[in-house]
Amino acid sequence: MAFTRATGKHRRPSRMHRTTARAAGVAALATTGVVGTLAAPALAAESEVEQSGLTPVVTIGDSIADEIDAQAVAQKQAALDAAAQEAARERAAEAAKEAREAKERAAREAERKRLNTFVAPITASYVSTAYQAGSSLWSSGSHTGIDFHASSGTTVHAVGVGTVVEAGWGGAYGNQVVIKMHDGTYTQYGHLSSIGVSVGQSVEPGQQIGLSGATGNVTGPHLHFEARTSSEYGSDMDPVSYLRSHGVNV
Ligand SMILES: [Zn+2]
Repeated sequence: MAFTRATGKHRRPSRMHRTTARAAGVAALATTGVVGTLAAPALAAESEVEQSGLTPVVTIGDSIADEIDAQAVAQKQAALDAAAQEAARERAAEAAKEAREAKERAAREAERKRLNTFVAPITASYVSTAYQAGSSLWSSGSHTGIDFHASSGTTVHAVGVGTVVEAGWGGAYGNQVVIKMHDGTYTQYGHLSSIGVSVGQSVEPGQQIGLSGATGNVTGPHLHFEARTSSEYGSDMDPVSYLRSHGVNV
């Protein structure tokens, strides 16, 4: 691009044009009604510039100013576009973060609910022999668990989340399952007619772990249920209190 440009393409008058026009106007006013012939040189002076067809070098200032203006506008627009894009990215990131957090909250809530869900080992049954009831039937002389009324073949449920640590013959308990619960306590299910889980298996609240029966030292079919602080015989605690403390209605 040359330092000069055709005057006809100007969007607005250059400083030189404005100056020239003013000079011509002043000259015209000065000569009006005084000496008519004096107007001619002033008009000639202006026409000399106009007729050159080129804008004098002094208009470079305007040209550069225009370009700087255009650049500034373009840069400002680019900055606005970048800011808008950044804001959109931030909104998208924030929305993704909120969705992720909501999902994590829901997962934590579901896990908390799962870990805190407890059910009765026999559905819609009742305790037929209480905890610590005395009888010559038990080697300790005292009942270490509770018996739930259940005919043979009734579904026996894991009372909560845990891992099977024993599944097999348990002497006086007959076929038994012992589960280590997620809170570190143990539950035991005895006299089963069949066992449906194996050692190491994870169980969920209400999951079927076997069927009730009359195996071991019994006078008839029922489910013997114990809650223990360890997997060992003798670490029993009150199973009714245990179940009730976990929200089971027994
Ligand atoms: Zn019992």
